[in-house]
Amino acid sequence: MYSASIQLNINCPKCESIIVINGPSDYAHCNACQKDTSLKPAFWKDLLYDVLESVVTDLKVGEDVTWTSLGRFYRKITFTKVQPFCHECRKTLALSKVNPKKESNIKCSKCGADNKISPVPPPLKRIFPAIDYFVNAQVLSKEELLEPAISGGVGITCPKCGGSLIIDGTERLVLCEYCGLNVYLSDDLWLRLHPVLVKSEWFIVYDEKRVKKINFDVY
Ligand SMILES: [Zn+2]
Ligand SMILES: [Zn+2]
Ligand SMILES: [Zn+2]
Repeated sequence: MYSASIQLNINCPKCESIIVINGPSDYAHCNACQKDTSLKPAFWKDLLYDVLESVVTDLKVGEDVTWTSLGRFYRKITFTKVQPFCHECRKTLALSKVNPKKESNIKCSKCGADNKISPVPPPLKRIFPAIDYFVNAQVLSKEELLEPAISGGVGITCPKCGGSLIIDGTERLVLCEYCGLNVYLSDDLWLRLHPVLVKSEWFIVYDEKRVKKINFDVY
């Protein structure tokens, strides 16, 4: 099986903070400056092609590589040639019945934890069909990235007039509708509404038949 685990960080192009990337999403959201950066299918193709080339031509099973500061903004990628394993107990997952075109969960045979299968986003699949699917990756659209983690709003009290305000987490500066004060949401509250992404390991699985047709020297 041609597969690899991936851990990836990029530099936010706006503020230079580190952004953790947990899957082949279209957008990366910077928690430091709250700006979004688009990650084009071509960015993913170049990166995941280089990973594939290493997996096929250099690495032994279990071996890993770290590349730093390559390209315009990616900061660090570590990948290991390994079969996808359970995020809870690290047991290798049985993937023979996976339908690569459908989002689904595979239960770990040892601990029963769900492990997520994600199909390749269509724009990426079109330009790089040798990717089969992803395991335990976050594939977020821009809308999902911006969606606050708490739905329905949170009530706060205006520090000046004591009026009660319902905030939805889309803006950090909230106008009090009673006294007109601009209320700046505290770090604690803001982080509850927008949890910082923690780094997690995700996997790419390549389509063996298509990979065999690639000639890595003349690509
Ligand atoms: Zn930033
Ligand atoms: Zn498990
Ligand atoms: Zn007020």
